[in-house]
Amino acid sequence: MKRSALLNWVAAASAVSVGCHASRQSAAAAPEALYQVHAVRFGTLANFPKRSLIAGAPATDSLDIALMVWVVRGGGRAILVDAGFYREKFMRQWKPVDYRKPSEAIDALGIKPEDVTDIVISHIHWDHADGADLFPRAKVWLQREEYEYHISDSGTVKNRSIDAEVAKMFHALKAAGRVNLIDGDAKEIIPGIRVYTGGKHTFASEYVGAATRSGTVILASDNAYLYENLEKQVAINQTLDPASNLAAQARMQALAASPRLVVPGHDAAVFARFPVSAGRVARID
Ligand SMILES: [Zn+2]
Repeated sequence: MKRSALLNWVAAASAVSVGCHASRQSAAAAPEALYQVHAVRFGTLANFPKRSLIAGAPATDSLDIALMVWVVRGGGRAILVDAGFYREKFMRQWKPVDYRKPSEAIDALGIKPEDVTDIVISHIHWDHADGADLFPRAKVWLQREEYEYHISDSGTVKNRSIDAEVAKMFHALKAAGRVNLIDGDAKEIIPGIRVYTGGKHTFASEYVGAATRSGTVILASDNAYLYENLEKQVAINQTLDPASNLAAQARMQALAASPRLVVPGHDAAVFARFPVSAGRVARID
């Protein structure tokens, strides 16, 4: 083949491949669901020691922290990120104020427990995972490593980060075929919903990105407890690896369409920074 013919051929081939690529991209982009994201507050833990949240905070500082679940709606789905808690033992031990069961708190958005299609569990701590069985039709998503590190094949506790009843409940959900285990980082589990690991709040805690009209919203859950963690670049106090946690927080801010679209796990200021309806629901996107 002469050089000019070769160049023509290369040009034609690359035009074809660009064409294919473009059409593939538009085919992939078109059906991507755009989600509405709300933070729903289901209670408050009053006078919580700040040092438990922010590494190095003064021992005497305390604050009221918000208990939240996040509702991501779109594409025919109602997805919860985290499920809150309701078991009596946690209520007695932690005495939340202004409390509603997470399954009832979402009625502010017109969602009934049986309407919830999916629950993405960021990590297995009681205040985020205990409520998973309040939603009878939901598929439950969490990292395989998070599950297997904490829960044995018979449903007992392998690591004390998980409560025994929560472990038993997850084991039962799994036996019922309702648990989807996710293998690792940056996985698109549902169109437009992607999960990320590395926050190291627990062994394989994850955070969630949702495609919205404003671009990507990141739900950090406890991988960043407060805005102060994100804005002052301070690791959460409860982490297995502060360096990994800080790297994850920086990555969240890069992944989000804007740093303000990273939602921390327990900061009541979420309800001051975003428009609020019904007193306890903030629209994020
Ligand atoms: Zn936690």
